[in-house]
Amino acid sequence: MNPFDELPLRDDLRGRTPYGAPQLDVPVRLNTNENPYPLPDEVAEAIEKAVRATLRDLNRYPDREAVALREDLAQYVGHGVTVDNVWAANGSNEVQQQLLQAFGGKGRDAMGFVPSYSMHSLLCVATGTGWIDGQRSSTFELTPASARAQVRVYQPDIVFICSPNNPTGTAAGLDVIEAVASEAPGMVIVDEAYYEFGREGTESAVTLLPRFPKLVVTRTMSKAFAFAGGRVGYLVGGAPVVEAVQLVRLPYHLSALTQAAARAALAHAPALLAQVEAIKVQRDRIVSALRELGIKVADSDANFVLFGGFRDQQRVWQALLDRGVLVRDVGLSGWLRVSAGTPAETDQFLNAMAQVPTDA
Ligand code: PMP
Repeated sequence: MNPFDELPLRDDLRGRTPYGAPQLDVPVRLNTNENPYPLPDEVAEAIEKAVRATLRDLNRYPDREAVALREDLAQYVGHGVTVDNVWAANGSNEVQQQLLQAFGGKGRDAMGFVPSYSMHSLLCVATGTGWIDGQRSSTFELTPASARAQVRVYQPDIVFICSPNNPTGTAAGLDVIEAVASEAPGMVIVDEAYYEFGREGTESAVTLLPRFPKLVVTRTMSKAFAFAGGRVGYLVGGAPVVEAVQLVRLPYHLSALTQAAARAALAHAPALLAQVEAIKVQRDRIVSALRELGIKVADSDANFVLFGGFRDQQRVWQALLDRGVLVRDVGLSGWLRVSAGTPAETDQFLNAMAQVPTDA
């Protein structure tokens, strides 16, 4: 029996399953694009101290506007961004949900260029926003002309551009974002969750914000800052956008513990970003090693790689799991996604790939 049969659940949620990758206990977990490195001791200790300093005040609600954290984030982002341009929440997923609550909803549509991050459309379901599948080329590219033409046809209230794109890995050029932002009738959300992993020359859409008041960039501390468990994401946009999301945020949504921990982590940005460089080395190693094996690989500006050309990607996924390596089947026929791990984890993945019959 369906557990919801007796409940007056919303009709549009019936038959749905919660989002999430399998959390399997295997030796090498490369399926959720986490940062493979634990926090360095100095950072963990700084966080411990910062969190401890808040404990006696937990009888009080936290700073509702998280001003100090937003100031630190603005400084990290640079490009003249100030506290009025930054908003933070529990992961960039929550930030995007707040954006949809403020700018989407009943009677409005959002569009994304698929394959892309599937949470964008799922957040639309949760917020009652319609969803339009925009297209990419068969090699997952998105040109300015194609993006502009699709926006012109569909006139969506919100456009998502994931750059670097999950699951394909490649960043969109600023020309694509400019084309969309100048054509779109409504908001344009650039999801830069993997921004810090971009290859040389990858530019942030933050540089376009002064020209496009309806453009918003979302980022996260989950990846580059190895802070997925801390749950902090943020947006950068015009001051009116930041005021708009405050209309829908829960009061005190970001705990005092989270704010203190995130500020301590940000104060150690150089130590954490050094790990990003190490991850990029493994990412590039995966790209070239898989290409040498004759496997198709999309260019990656992220901490993961999309690889494939398989007749049956599920068989390859299972064969890797049988060798203790968990990767992600993103539901894209013929393709799999692997996160760049430590050098040892990457060795195990590449060794397993060399043994697996791929049918490529
Ligand atoms: N955007 C993209 C493209 C992602 O891949 C992810 C995490 N997998 C997120 C946003 C959400 O990250 P978080 O909520 O941890 O900030």
